[in-house]
Amino acid sequence: MDFRLSSDNYAIRETVQQFLDKEVRPYVRGWEQGNIFPKEIYRKMGAMGLLGSTFPEKYGGSELGFLNLTLIVEEVSRAHEALGSAFNMNSMTCPYTVLNWGSEDQRKTYVPEWIAGTKIGFFGLTEPDGGTDVLGGMTSTAILEGDHYVLRGAKQFITLGTVADVGLIFCKTDRERGHDGVSAFLVETDRPGFTASLIATRVLGESWPTSAIFLDNVTVPIDHLVGAEGQGFQIAMNALDYGRLVVGARCVGIGQAALDEMTQYSQERHAFGQPIGKFQQIQAHIANTAVEIEAARLMIYRLAMTLERSGTSQPRLSSQAKYYAAEVAYRAAERAFEIFGGYAVTDDYPIARHLNTAALLRTGEGSANLQRVLIAEDILGYRSSDRYRVEQKFPLWRAHDE
Ligand SMILES: Cc1cc2nc3c(=O)[nH]c(=O)nc-3n(C[C@H](O)[C@H](O)[C@H](O)COP(=O)(O)OP(=O)(O)OC[C@H]3O[C@@H](n4cnc5c(N)ncnc54)[C@H](O)[C@@H]3O)c2cc1C
Repeated sequence: MDFRLSSDNYAIRETVQQFLDKEVRPYVRGWEQGNIFPKEIYRKMGAMGLLGSTFPEKYGGSELGFLNLTLIVEEVSRAHEALGSAFNMNSMTCPYTVLNWGSEDQRKTYVPEWIAGTKIGFFGLTEPDGGTDVLGGMTSTAILEGDHYVLRGAKQFITLGTVADVGLIFCKTDRERGHDGVSAFLVETDRPGFTASLIATRVLGESWPTSAIFLDNVTVPIDHLVGAEGQGFQIAMNALDYGRLVVGARCVGIGQAALDEMTQYSQERHAFGQPIGKFQQIQAHIANTAVEIEAARLMIYRLAMTLERSGTSQPRLSSQAKYYAAEVAYRAAERAFEIFGGYAVTDDYPIARHLNTAALLRTGEGSANLQRVLIAEDILGYRSSDRYRVEQKFPLWRAHDE
């Protein structure tokens, strides 16, 4: 087992850091305070090949691989948490789902636009009454009428719903069939009857909009069905497995940002005649945070490498890595909050933002409780967390010297 990054990995990371220093860091505060969603950054990241890292060139991808994707997502999230969500939507859940489950026409039409950042994606699974229990709480329906489906219902907490162009919506096509009664659809946001409204939240603001979506007799042609009718639940679970890699990498980036901030502050802030970094309790926070982030990073890298080499999804590893990385990011932000004292809540520092985002990422793509259930049931032998393991139809991994 070789834990070293390659010179390619370092070069990509450096390119991303330079891009972030020039195009992102100077503007983050302005975007947040002005409630601005920075759409043009998507295009720039797309043009650099960052969003298409795990996709074949044939569909506009840059074929950089999963490990490079995690390095990119980590750096981007370290610079601006909100921008990390771009990778969930535009470089993983949406394009991956269409690549692996969609028709060739769907692949050619949608994948290149998402990974170029010219169209913003969204992933519409959660409903007002169905988050963790998404199947039990799903009331939205898609009824086949002639050559089109009619979608009715509502979705909740849909990231980027108000700024998106086209994304995925999961609805019941057969209420009686449980898991096999859900189907996945491509839905353009300008279709009559589709509305997305911003969910009021001071925590996220509009630079990272989350929305409620209403489907009032939205009509989509039959060719907008992704995969077969009834495959939607399996498709959604598969997408979340890949999404968890991205969320995990985002958490490592946020944890690292919190560590960067607390380290600098501990050297600058003085109390009792010395920098607070000289106090052992502050040092313990810094040491524990640094080690935990390194451990989370290794779990995410292992997941990325396994995805790169195995050719199948990795539900067990995804669940464990996402769970741990989110807990670590949260603890890092909590410790930073303590170290910053009263200044943690001021707009001069991003500490409260780190804490809020880490808390949210513990919930997104499967809550911490759900991950604990999946992990424990697997260990206890009740249900394998790898039960939704799926083969990647298109190898998304890079060639390795085995
Ligand atoms: C910022 C943000 C962005 C999001 N983006 C998207 C998106 O783009 N697309 C999308 O489809 N969804 C999105 N979500 C929704 C997210 O996936 C859900 O919030 C999550 O699945 C939890 O659902 P819930 O909020 O309804 O909580 P609930 O499911 O109501 O859970 C409430 C609490 O009960 C616990 N709980 C529930 N069931 C169990 C159980 N069996 N055992 C133990 N504890 C349990 C949960 O862990 C949680 O602590 C987003 C959420 C947030 C906060």
